[in-house]
Parts: sequence; structure tokens; C-alpha cells
Amino acid sequence: GEHRLSDINALVEESLNLAYHGARAEKPQFDVTLERDLDPAAGMADVFPQEITRVLLNLISNGFYAAAKRKADNGAAGFKPVVVAATRDRGDHIEIRIRDNGTGIPDAVKEKIFNPFFTTKPAGEGTGLGLSMSHDIVVKQHGGTIDVETRPGAFTEFTILLPRTSSIP
Ligand code: ADP
Ligand code: MG
Repeated sequence: GEHRLSDINALVEESLNLAYHGARAEKPQFDVTLERDLDPAAGMADVFPQEITRVLLNLISNGFYAAAKRKADNGAAGFKPVVVAATRDRGDHIEIRIRDNGTGIPDAVKEKIFNPFFTTKPAGEGTGLGLSMSHDIVVKQHGGTIDVETRPGAFTEFTILLPRTSSIP
């Protein structure tokens, strides 16, 4: 696709809706709440909108899965699986954060999550390509960064920093 000046909050909103309907269609038992914490001043960035949507869709889907898994695994009464999408104006960058209160990622796994074909999901449920693809799109195509912060049994948060005007060819 083409790159163009894009409303990042709108891409986040579109991705949330796609992820929600995808997850509900595939696994109706995934009862995960989506929350938005969108900065009205987040504004525009010159990006490949379809590629950024693919990245966000994968991050949100991963969050859904981890939050639903935590509920299924330890089933604590009253535990509410949640995925939060946040944006922030960072001057010449826009920050996007996708956070879930799911299983978290142990250190030994965390080292590998950006490797192509690495997955901890059962056969047929994950290709292991989402995060390696996401890394390429954010870093190589847009000159941005993607980082993860996590605590096993508590949360995972991916943070993307996108330049507003990148050196896209
Ligand atoms: P897939 O979703 O097909 O497994 P990804 O590249 O998207 O592939 O993710 C790779 C692995 O990283 C997952 O299988 C999982 O082990 C881990 N992971 C990614 N996101 C999360 C998350 N939000 N919470 C816990 N684990 C995660
Ligand atoms: Mg994935």
C-alpha cells in the first residue's frame, strides 16, 4: 500500500474493532474488555496505514489471548481480562501502547518473541510471525521503535514510537 498522512487514533480505533470482532468470532468465550486511552492531541503521522493496522491488530490480538488465558488458567473469581490501547503526543513522534493484564511473559520466552516462527500457542493457533512482522514494519519501514515491558502473572505492555515524518522512501 501507499504511505500517507494518517490519523493515528483512527487507526487504533479501527484495529480495536477488527481485533474485537475477530476474537469474538474465533473464540466466543474470550470475554475481554477493551479500553481506550486516546490522546486527542495524538494527531497525524506519515505512515503505511494498512501496515500499522496489521501491527496493532496483532498486538491487540496477542493481548486478548494472554488476558483470556490468564482467566482460563487460574480462573480467579472477579478477574476481568482487559486490553488497553493508549496514544500520546510525543512531539515529533506519536506513542502507541497496547497493554493487557494477562499471563505476562517469562524472561526465557521474552528473549525470543520477536523471532520469526516463535510461538507458545498450540498448533494451529499461532504462526509466530506477528511480532517479527510488527518489528520489521515499525523499525524498518517507519524508522520507529517497539519495546515490551512485562511481569509474569500480571501484565504485558508493548510501546511503539512512530516518527510523524519518517524517511519512508
Ligand atoms: P503468535 O501470536 O502467532 O504466537 P507472535 O509473534 O504474535 O506470534 O507472538 C509470539 C509469542 O510471544 C506468543 O506466542 C507469546 O508466547 C508471546 N506473546 C506475545 N504477546 C504477548 C502478550 N501480550 N502476553 C503474553 N505473551 C505474549
Ligand atoms: Mg500474534
